[in-house]
Amino acid sequence: MAGTLVYAVLSPLAVLTMVAFATASSYRSTVRISRQEAMAWPGAVMLGGCGAVLAYYYTWGVVLSLALILLVQRAYFAQVQEGVARIHAERLQQATAELRATQEKPAIASSLIASACDLVGARTVRILSEDETPPGALAATMPSGQTLVAEGRLGPGHWTAQERETLIALAGVADDAFKAADLIARLQDVTNAQTEAILSIDGEGLVTFANPAAGGMLRVEELDEIVGKPLDDVCSLRVQRKPLDLVGMMRDGATAQDADATLHAAAGNRTEVAYSFNPIGGEDGDARASEGAVLVVRDVTERRAFQEALTYRAMHDELTGLPNRRSFLDRLDELLARSVRTEQHHAVIFVDLDRFKLVNDSFGHLVGDQLLIQMSDRLLRSAPDSSVIARLSGDEFVILLEDVDDTAAVQRVTEATLDRLRDSYLIDGHSVQVTVSIGIAVAEPGQTRDDVMLAADAAAYAAKSAGRNCIRLATQELVDASRVRLELEAQLRDAIDHGDLSLRFQPIVDTKTRALSGVEALVRWERDGRTVPPGEFIPLAEDSGLIVYVGRWVLHEACRVTQGWNLAHPERPPVMVSVNLSALQLVQPSLAQEIAEALETTGLPPWQLSLEITETALLADIDVNIATLQELRDIGVRVSVDDFGTGYSSLAYLRQLPVDVVKLDRAFIAGLGKDPVDTQIVAAVLRLCKALDRRIVAEGVETELQRQTLSRMGCPYMQGFLIARPMRTEAFEAYWESLNSDGANSSHPTDEMPAAVES
Ligand code: C2E
Ligand code: CA
Ligand code: CA
Repeated sequence: MAGTLVYAVLSPLAVLTMVAFATASSYRSTVRISRQEAMAWPGAVMLGGCGAVLAYYYTWGVVLSLALILLVQRAYFAQVQEGVARIHAERLQQATAELRATQEKPAIASSLIASACDLVGARTVRILSEDETPPGALAATMPSGQTLVAEGRLGPGHWTAQERETLIALAGVADDAFKAADLIARLQDVTNAQTEAILSIDGEGLVTFANPAAGGMLRVEELDEIVGKPLDDVCSLRVQRKPLDLVGMMRDGATAQDADATLHAAAGNRTEVAYSFNPIGGEDGDARASEGAVLVVRDVTERRAFQEALTYRAMHDELTGLPNRRSFLDRLDELLARSVRTEQHHAVIFVDLDRFKLVNDSFGHLVGDQLLIQMSDRLLRSAPDSSVIARLSGDEFVILLEDVDDTAAVQRVTEATLDRLRDSYLIDGHSVQVTVSIGIAVAEPGQTRDDVMLAADAAAYAAKSAGRNCIRLATQELVDASRVRLELEAQLRDAIDHGDLSLRFQPIVDTKTRALSGVEALVRWERDGRTVPPGEFIPLAEDSGLIVYVGRWVLHEACRVTQGWNLAHPERPPVMVSVNLSALQLVQPSLAQEIAEALETTGLPPWQLSLEITETALLADIDVNIATLQELRDIGVRVSVDDFGTGYSSLAYLRQLPVDVVKLDRAFIAGLGKDPVDTQIVAAVLRLCKALDRRIVAEGVETELQRQTLSRMGCPYMQGFLIARPMRTEAFEAYWESLNSDGANSSHPTDEMPAAVES
């Protein structure tokens, strides 16, 4: 019985020991299988009891019971081993999952060490930076070069193959986790350094990530205040005040790249942004399956402010700050479009400053600028609030009166404006007085902006033509005249392009001998078989600026023809050619260069060219013009003052003007010998020119009496119908030929010679 009892005690111990040995490799795990252990105890006791009873009754019972115990133990051991393996596998899986989920390197390291100690059954586990194995240790090298070392095996014996495999597996997973942590750290650096705000959301629209720039833009101290919250609670993007449904966009797979929006942060601040929105994580490009989205937002406040400033600049006049032509026309377009429905009338009032150039010339451009600024102020103050005041160009303003009932009201506003503008301006200590010419057009519903602008322009033109400083209302006649003018202008443009301009030549001769001294080139326009005289198109060409092109052609053609004569008749004394320059040409900065070029390309010697500039043009800006004349004379050409005597106080200025020739206006010649005043003026001019050493040419000599008087008074040269009308090139050549053949150098006055009729 005692033996039975001993056996009963030893039997469970034997079971346990065997189990312990069988599972020594996973010692710790085994120890923890306490539930199984607990069940093993009563099981073993019962088995031992059964064995003892058997042994007691049968002699063979001992052997039988031992065999039974052995069988049971084997079965139990197998079960325990399987359990241990399963638990081990589970724990390994758990450990690797934990490692993979950990993102920071220290956390990965401590998790790795704990799992390795546990799963391998080691006292200590270290991560060494080099590939070394301390004696008796188990080591696994990680792909990145570190070594995972386990020391102090718990339990007897050596490290098993399974423990080695476990350690290698852990080392591999940990290495991946370290790399991922590195990558994340680097990505974090990148997103931290980003000035764009980056936010990511998950499929539910919750913020999963935000970079510091996002925190800054949304004005939060800690990113945790955003992360985890619904995106809609954190901020909203609005386009034209309407919030965008970003979560909806994500679900629909919609994207946006660099689109404009305003970011409204929960903190209340707003930022002008360009945003990009892209769903992420969708499989096989199926955006609908997306697991979230990334929102990248760039602060473009400055750029947008700059853009707005640019737009403002594009729509406003820099000097006065008033809307410019473009924005005025836009507004007019809008009103006209509306008035088709509303049947409202609107008035366009053109305000054109009279002789603004004179202000600039007399006081300088700064005063001119100040004048425009003060004028714009006065306009703003005098016009009704609802009106638009714009600056159309240099000295042109416009008032757009919206919704006007009757013309009388418009006229009242206009007159008040005119009065205000006429008051003198105090600028820089100068008292400046100016007048304006005003044209009014009332826009009828259905009219286009061109109709209205043309009408207002025509009215302003009429006001100017009527002597300035007055108001004109657009009428159909004025508009028609303006159309004709514009038409003519277009045709003149064509004429310049198509070579429909031609020259006439009028001789300038010696008053005594009638010998040819020079020739004046005068332009004509061959239009539809009719020859248009310059009086009909030169003013128009001056108004529109086309005179510059006309003048360029005349200059070149006159030089070319004259040089042709030089070459054809080397035996004859060279003839001087006079070309008229308009005031507008005189102010072209490239004038001297153009003249030099014309001389060079045609080969005409400079001294054979004389430029005629009217006295009025010269006196308009005398200081500047004197410099220009000097520049021209430096080229070697001569300069004549045309229509002399028509401008006031010209006699006083003559001394200052660097001119070679004075052309006495034909108004004085007409009265010569009949009108004592005219005769005296001519005598005075002659004396002055003689004293100043200027050549003098009398213009418009029509009668023999005039010629004789001039000759007697000592006027050396003349030009006029008495000698010849302006002639075509061939006619002039024939005339010249006749002079040479019948010796016109003779001093016989050829009274009988008929004036060449202009052909
Ligand atoms: P202007 O420069 O004073 O030219 C002289 C004008 O007087 C010419 O008129 C000529 O035909 C005319 N004339 C000449 N002799 C007599 C005469 O005895 N009696 C009368 N009644 N008239 C005479 P035209 O050719 O019609 O030119 C008129 C004006 O047109 C010119 O006056 C000049 O100011 C301008 N003009 C002509 N050609 C040009 C040009 O190429 N460029 C510029 N800028 N102006 C030009
Ligand atoms: Ca002339
Ligand atoms: Ca003249």
